[in-house]
Amino acid sequence: MPLYEFYCPQCRKKFEELCRTSQESVPCPHCAAASKRVLSTFRTARGSSGNGGSASGGCGG
Ligand SMILES: [Zn+2]
Repeated sequence: MPLYEFYCPQCRKKFEELCRTSQESVPCPHCAAASKRVLSTFRTARGSSGNGGSASGGCGG
């Protein structure tokens, strides 16, 4: 199944939505606002979902 990731500007959160077709925008399941599709980030580090938003990225070891 094609799983796409969307970003809601209202909730300021990302959510995944199953779409039959690659839609550019879908209504947010929380606030029904128009959410834009974002690139799927499969390469993100899994474990904790969510970011603090303090320091910007850094590929360190
Ligand atoms: Zn929303």
